[in-house]
Amino acid sequence: MSLEALYTSHPVKFEIDKFDQYVMNTYGRFPIAIDHGKGCNLWDTNGKQYLDFVAGIATCTLGHAHPSLIKSATQQINKLHHVSNLYYIPEQGELAKWLVENSCGDSVFFCNSGAEANEAAIKLVRKYAHTIMEFLEKPIILTAKESFHGRTLATVTATGQPKYQTHFEPLVPGFAYVPYNDLKAVEDAITNLDEGNSRVAAIMLEPLQGEGGVRPGEGEYFRGIRKICDDNDILLIFDEVQVGVGRTGTLWGYEQLGVEPDIFTSAKGLAGGIPIGAMICKKFCDVFEPGNHASTFGGNPFATAMASAVLNTIEQDNLLENVKSRGQQLRGLLQSLIDKYPKLFSEVRGWGLINGLEIKADHRLTSLDIIKIAMEEGLLIAPAGTKVIRFVPPLIVSEGEISQAVLLLERAIESCLKSKGLDN
Ligand SMILES: *Cc1c(COP(=O)(O)O)cnc(C)c1O
Repeated sequence: MSLEALYTSHPVKFEIDKFDQYVMNTYGRFPIAIDHGKGCNLWDTNGKQYLDFVAGIATCTLGHAHPSLIKSATQQINKLHHVSNLYYIPEQGELAKWLVENSCGDSVFFCNSGAEANEAAIKLVRKYAHTIMEFLEKPIILTAKESFHGRTLATVTATGQPKYQTHFEPLVPGFAYVPYNDLKAVEDAITNLDEGNSRVAAIMLEPLQGEGGVRPGEGEYFRGIRKICDDNDILLIFDEVQVGVGRTGTLWGYEQLGVEPDIFTSAKGLAGGIPIGAMICKKFCDVFEPGNHASTFGGNPFATAMASAVLNTIEQDNLLENVKSRGQQLRGLLQSLIDKYPKLFSEVRGWGLINGLEIKADHRLTSLDIIKIAMEEGLLIAPAGTKVIRFVPPLIVSEGEISQAVLLLERAIESCLKSKGLDN
């Protein structure tokens, strides 16, 4: 049965037409509405249960309705949820202290999303260039092709994928793009872009490209980038929005590469699904002064208390260990699927609990074909491009849930191949 037929024969109580009448059509939504969740499970408005390997796109670090989130949220909403950065916010100071003590950074700016955190980093680099780098007039930020940095005008410009930029021109000046994991391309770009009052001031990279297809950065490449930055007085920014906060099995993605950035950004998983963003930098490039940058909601008591609850739980429950072993288990099981369907899949790649299963370029099936059928089977997974299936479950996922997910995925693959009349 097609997905459409399935949902026509079991119409959802939730009225999709009404939703579409009032909400802007900016997402290609799946035709289900999620009602509630617990742990790694979600239930839709029809009562159908799903195993959640999307986790709000790598945000629900502790899954759904986690006791420590409920406790902290209840305590904080009863105490104080929002004031303004006109006053000192103790919860914000506490979170900043934790982040500084547990990273290579020295100070933190808080905002509400990944795009905003990257905007803050871009503004910081520009101020650093104008005030410190021999008063560089036209600083350029180098980013990678296939990267993703957000949807605001500056971050969509930083994003090295034309499909996100079309129709939003003129884009923000001061960005240039290089292929990912290609050191020579960076060296060439730095030479070619050096003229008059314009040169490369910063390089901005994801330690692992998430939206771009779950592509891990190579250690040698990143060590080379670090050296280039040191030799040429270029700032190195890491976008840790998707890979930070334990998702890779280490607290920060850069630990997988053995390279420290000068500036890095965090958001998605930081408060376990409560909106928050953070831009963290080393002392030497902390050039912001009062009035330079701000956010009404940024670092409010509620969001920062929730982030502290997430980070304390990661620590107390030893979740990094869980991420490492569950990640290994998942990659092992996905590898057996590749062995079983060699015409369909080419590779599994990733770190910890951010993994991608790639469909062969010449195969008729797309990631979305399989994802739709998996949803019918009761497994939620997300695409990372047309040929990669992304697995980003909550970091609390259990051994049994990993096995169950791969079982449901295999059922979906079988039914997908059968429905298209393909043998493998
Ligand atoms: C999701 C994401 C962003 C954008 O975050 P928003 O909170 O949606 O603004 C930026 N960078 C990376 C690497 C991301 O995965």
